[in-house]
Amino acid sequence: MSTSRFQALAELNTRQPIVVPPPSVKVSDYFGSNVFSPFRMREYLTDEVYDKLMDCINHGTRIDRSLADHISSAMKEWAMSKGATHYTHWFQPLTGATAEKHDSFFKPLGDGRAIEKFEGSMLVQQEPDASSFPSGGIRNTFEARGYTLWDPSSPAFIVGNTLCIPTIFISYTGHALDYKMPMMKALHAVDVAATSVCQYFDKEVVKVNTTLGWEQEYFLIDEALFNARPDIAMTGRALFGARPAKGQQLEDHYFGSIPERAMGFMKEFEQEAHLLGIPVTTRHNEVAPNQFEVAPMFEEANLANDHNQLLMDLLNKIARKHQFRILLHEKPFEGINGSGKHNNWALSTNTGVNLLKPGRNPKSNLQFLTFFVNTVAAIFENADVLRASIASVGNDHRLGANEAPPAIMSCFLGEQLSAMLDDLEKNIKAGKMTPQDKTELKLNIGKLPQVLLDNTDRNRTSPFAFTGNKFEFRAVGSSANCANAMIVLNTIVAHRLNQFKKDVDARIAKGDDKDEAILKELQRLIKMSKAIRFEGNGYGDEWVKEAKKRGLSNFNDTPSALAVWKDKKVQKMFQELNVLTPEEIHARYEIELENYSRRRDIEAALTVNLAINHIVPAAIHYQSDLLHNVAALKEVLTASEIKEAGATQISLIKSIGKELNAIKKKADQLATERLKATEMPAEKQARNFASVVKPLMDEVRESADALEMIIEDEAWPLPKMREILFTR
Ligand code: ADP
Ligand code: MG
Repeated sequence: MSTSRFQALAELNTRQPIVVPPPSVKVSDYFGSNVFSPFRMREYLTDEVYDKLMDCINHGTRIDRSLADHISSAMKEWAMSKGATHYTHWFQPLTGATAEKHDSFFKPLGDGRAIEKFEGSMLVQQEPDASSFPSGGIRNTFEARGYTLWDPSSPAFIVGNTLCIPTIFISYTGHALDYKMPMMKALHAVDVAATSVCQYFDKEVVKVNTTLGWEQEYFLIDEALFNARPDIAMTGRALFGARPAKGQQLEDHYFGSIPERAMGFMKEFEQEAHLLGIPVTTRHNEVAPNQFEVAPMFEEANLANDHNQLLMDLLNKIARKHQFRILLHEKPFEGINGSGKHNNWALSTNTGVNLLKPGRNPKSNLQFLTFFVNTVAAIFENADVLRASIASVGNDHRLGANEAPPAIMSCFLGEQLSAMLDDLEKNIKAGKMTPQDKTELKLNIGKLPQVLLDNTDRNRTSPFAFTGNKFEFRAVGSSANCANAMIVLNTIVAHRLNQFKKDVDARIAKGDDKDEAILKELQRLIKMSKAIRFEGNGYGDEWVKEAKKRGLSNFNDTPSALAVWKDKKVQKMFQELNVLTPEEIHARYEIELENYSRRRDIEAALTVNLAINHIVPAAIHYQSDLLHNVAALKEVLTASEIKEAGATQISLIKSIGKELNAIKKKADQLATERLKATEMPAEKQARNFASVVKPLMDEVRESADALEMIIEDEAWPLPKMREILFTR
């Protein structure tokens, strides 16, 4: 049985902050000490082995057997010196969580002795039973073979007594069954495309890395209250709950002082994160009560994403130690801000240049504008795929709700850059440019200051905002694996840059000089992609209308957003760039649809259950109390006196009756429609969950929330919103 509301509230009064002392006074003393980082490798590997490994990582080449043996034995030596007894291949299957299967280092020798063993082959490849991870039909369940393969570009680390080796997860047939493999392929695609475009400006550039800096938002709620709310415990969000009188109107939580218990929790997970080399630097309260944010320094995207996955695990684990539960759901509480995971994205070269930072001179500014304009154009051309990359059951509640970017994809550029693009659009003349034209244009471009006015992202309402030296993709959901967004963003930018290279080269072949060709092509892209630029208020209804006029899509639920994956042109783009095959795309589409339906199904079942078994009985009890009161009044008062003295009771009895009828009727309908939906084929099922089941859930909730406002506080069974959100 779940704890009752009053037990939970009593338990809450006993809570004390837990403060765990850090391993050392200075973070720099212990930062990364549980990671087999390049620094540590230098200590454990010979120079020759180290150089060979770095060479393989930098060029993405195969690591041969003998090299793998050297590395595994060094890794084992290091891990055992830190007390590790087991190792695991750590991977990111499409369930959304991370997965691991632990094997011990020790192996019996057969003569009564044992040794610790960790060979190259065990480092490079493992064969977990893959049958119960989602594969979207790629692999029949009886063909359970799947492999995890070592990703040497992300360093191994130790959690507890286990050496964890970041790996990709593929099927026996070589298809990706995870997020990491296509992510690495997308990063490679954008590297190749961007490096080739960089050749116009700087021949020294041989590699372009994607950088990712995520900002993770979350809610923290007390464990006892969490346990007394089956809806929150099972689905991560409150399916019921009247809005508290005080929500976030006063905005007194944002950047406010962090409550002591929450602080104890933060300090401990930060210590753990630092031991794992996750460079978290920022913590603060968010807008909603009990909502917080943690952010690290940005890193190379593959590593940054591994770190985000690890941190989400840590948040869950450490929260429990502090008798909290972490909610990573995108919209746990209606009417209160949801949680996102802003993905700050940029491209940086081996020569140390951020391609999305305005430069020091006209030449580097032209390079900046090239990458900047191509990114905006990529969003314009593939806004629907970008939208699909952030689609999830939780994000459906968040996008377009309080203080969250809308489901319409658009780019915010800031005043100066908008003016610069308008200028380029107007001032590049058709036909041959004179040397004077070119000089003038370049002078203009050179005027772009290195530090832009808008670098402090004043427009928080845009889903994709330029913030001075990076783009910030704000529509990503808090529980998402960043890889989904990063796979799409990097692929569409790679596609655009490849096209740009072709088009510029074609202009050069026709007689334009290089700068002229680049400028003209940029002008064409600026003209083409105008509709995606929006500097106004993304939260307003006006924007919805305006976007429609501009022909921009607005998919407000996951099933409609995901449909773009069936587009042959989209599939071709992902295939040509070797990121995902049409088969893999189809599998992912199926998995995501199914995931959507399953989650809605669980929510619908719980809505019926809580309405009928918790809320209706509470309402009937209170109604009975009122009826007893009226009956008792009848014993002592005359009929006309009762009219006066019993008026409130009688009106409450009637209101409760009305809501009871409504809730029962809607809950019955919901139960029926839910069952009907589950028998439909996948696509129709998901659509029905979105358009029939979900609205019925909202109607049941409406009556339940109305009852919460009528029924006496003592009789209400579930912790109320004010209790969940305002207790520390
Ligand atoms: P906020 O969005 O909260 O105003 P900032 O704009 O200062 O904060 O930075 C947000 C995040 O952007 C940080 O996590 C930071 O690491 C990241 N970031 C900064 N520069 C880059 C970059 N070149 N590439 C990717 N992320 C970056
Ligand atoms: Mg931000």
